[in-house]
Amino acid sequence: MEEGLLVVISGPSGAGKGTICMQLLMEMSFLKVSVSATTRKPREGEKDGIDYFFIEEEEFLKRVKNNEFLEYAKVYGNYYGTPKEEVFKQLKAGKDIILEIDIQGALQVKKNYPMGVFIFILPPSLTELKNRIEGRGTDSKEVILRRMESAYDELNYAFQYDYVVVNDRVDIATEKIKHIILAEKNRAIRKKEIINKVREM
Ligand code: ADP
Ligand code: 5GP
Repeated sequence: MEEGLLVVISGPSGAGKGTICMQLLMEMSFLKVSVSATTRKPREGEKDGIDYFFIEEEEFLKRVKNNEFLEYAKVYGNYYGTPKEEVFKQLKAGKDIILEIDIQGALQVKKNYPMGVFIFILPPSLTELKNRIEGRGTDSKEVILRRMESAYDELNYAFQYDYVVVNDRVDIATEKIKHIILAEKNRAIRKKEIINKVREM
């Protein structure tokens, strides 16, 4: 069976990763999102095992030691990590998986699994990024300031990705990512199995 595609969506906080991923999952029903583990406390309405696996720091560090994460990072004071076994199991079963993770994590995945497709979501401007973070209403003034400072530096990493998609309008950005995913699924390097099969027919 053809191995699934690992799509890594990342970029600065507030760029619209979550919004775009939700749209993508609605429009491309074959995509599955990987559920990360985190030491962050659940926000209102978040469910364990659906939004995240909410675990204590001691347990998280134990899993790091056991090499259970494909990548992990400390993001604004909390640990986040992608469970390795589950992701590889799904990819082997031919499922296409989305990871919505921060930039430190995306660069680790690129090192450990270069066959992935790495997409950087760019806000149309830093001013618009600030408006979006403020508009989301989930962060204090200090946190917003910290996220804006990080965003400025994080833009340097965009060049290490395969694609940069500007999130000016959600529908247009989502459409672009859909095209990227469809094109990537047809790359010659991912088609060895079907080529060999056709040869035998
Ligand atoms: P991230 O997951 O990258 O931190 P979110 O998806 O939470 O970002 O988006 C941050 C805020 O910006 C949310 O309130 C979201 O509704 C809004 N937003 C996302 N994309 C757009 C867009 N293209 N235009 C206007 N607002 C947007
Ligand atoms: P939030 O706490 O708002 O859900 O997420 C905060 C940040 O952590 C976001 O930028 C999100 O992309 C990132 N994140 C979520 N899960 C993971 C993960 O498994 N690994 C890494 N490296 N970052 C993650």
